[in-house]
Amino acid sequence: MTKPAIRFEKVSRHFGDVIAVDAVDLEIQDGEFFSMLGPSGSGKTTCLRMIAGFDRPTSGRIFLFGQEVSNLPPFERDVNTVFQDYALFPHMTVGDNIAYGLMIKRVPKDERKKRVDEMLDLVQLAGFAARKPSQLSGGQRQRVALARALINHPKVLLLDEPLGALDLKLRQQMQVELKSIQKRIGITFIFVTHDQEEALTMSDRIAVFNQGRIEQVGTPSEVYEKPATPFVAGFVGTSNLISGDVAKRITGSEKTFSIRPEKIYLGSLSDAPSEKMYSATGTVRDVIYLGLYTRYLVNLDDGGELVVIEQNLKTTSMDVLKTRDQKVCLSWDKEHISRVGG
Ligand code: ATP
Repeated sequence: MTKPAIRFEKVSRHFGDVIAVDAVDLEIQDGEFFSMLGPSGSGKTTCLRMIAGFDRPTSGRIFLFGQEVSNLPPFERDVNTVFQDYALFPHMTVGDNIAYGLMIKRVPKDERKKRVDEMLDLVQLAGFAARKPSQLSGGQRQRVALARALINHPKVLLLDEPLGALDLKLRQQMQVELKSIQKRIGITFIFVTHDQEEALTMSDRIAVFNQGRIEQVGTPSEVYEKPATPFVAGFVGTSNLISGDVAKRITGSEKTFSIRPEKIYLGSLSDAPSEKMYSATGTVRDVIYLGLYTRYLVNLDDGGELVVIEQNLKTTSMDVLKTRDQKVCLSWDKEHISRVGG
C-alpha cells in the first residue's frame, strides 16, 4: 500500500499555556483534496504551519510520505504554501513572480519560460506574463500565487484560507477552479477554511477542528449527514439537536439525535405520517422568507424548537407568512435522523 501523504502521530503544539493543537492523529492520503475546517483559533493554521515546517510540534511526530519531517526546515520538505494575502512581489511581473522558485534553483531561462507558460495555461492566465500584480484583479492575483506555488511540482500543496479575500461570487468560481486544477495535476491539496460551505463543496474529506482537536474526519456527506458530535452538527450546516425527554417521545430513546432542517416536512395536523416517519406537533413561531426557500422556527409541543427549511416550489411569500402561529405536524424519514456521539 502507498504511504499516506501526511501522517500526524499524537501531534501537540503548545504556546506557553495555550494548547493550540492537542494530541492530533491524522492521515491524509496521496491525491486527496483535504480540508481542515473549524472556527477561529481551533488550531487549523498551526497544523498547516507544522506540515510546512514554519512551526514544530511540542510533542508527537509528522511524516510526509512515510519520512519523518518533524524537525526538517521548510526547504527540505516537498510542500508549498499559498497564503490568503498572496504574498506576490509587487515590483516583479507575473511571469517573474511565477518563475521565482525556479530562478532560486538556477533552472535555465528557456526551461523557466516553458514552465511558466504551462502554469499560466493551468490557471487560465495565458497572456498575462508581462503584467504587474497591481494590474490584476483579486482572483487573478490568487491564481498567480497558485501558479507560483505549483511550478516546483510539490507533492503537497497547502492552502491557508486562500479565497478569504475574494467576494462571494468570485470565491464560488475559484472553488470550482481549484478543485478542477487539483484533479488535473493529481497532487494532495490541504485546504484550511472556517467556511463550511467551502469545505463541503471542494473536499474529498474534511477534518472538523475544535479547540485544538479533531472532532470528526469524513467525506462531506458523512460529516453533514452523520455528525459525530454536537459540535460538528452545529458547526457544519444548521442542525437540530433533540435529546432527553423530547427525543424519547419522538424516537423512543433519550440519546442525542441530529436532524437537518431540509429533511423535515411541514404539514398540517390532519396529515397522518407513515410508519417510516417520525413526527412531532408544534406551533410555528417565526417564518423567514428567503426567496429560494423559507426557514420556519417551530416550537414543539413536547418542548424544544426545530428549524425547518422548505423550498418555495409553489408557495409565494404571502402563502408562507400565513403559517406563522399555526399548529403544524413535522415529520421526517426515520433514516434521516442520526445519533450524535457514542
Ligand atoms: P484562524 O482561522 O483564526 O486562523 P486557526 O484555527 O487557524 O484560527 P490557529 O492559528 O492554529 O487557529 O491558533 C490556535 C491557537 O493557538 C489560538 O488560540 C492562537 O491564539 C494560538 N496561537 C497560534 N499561534 C501562536 C503564537 N505564535 N503564539 C501564541 N499563541 C499562538
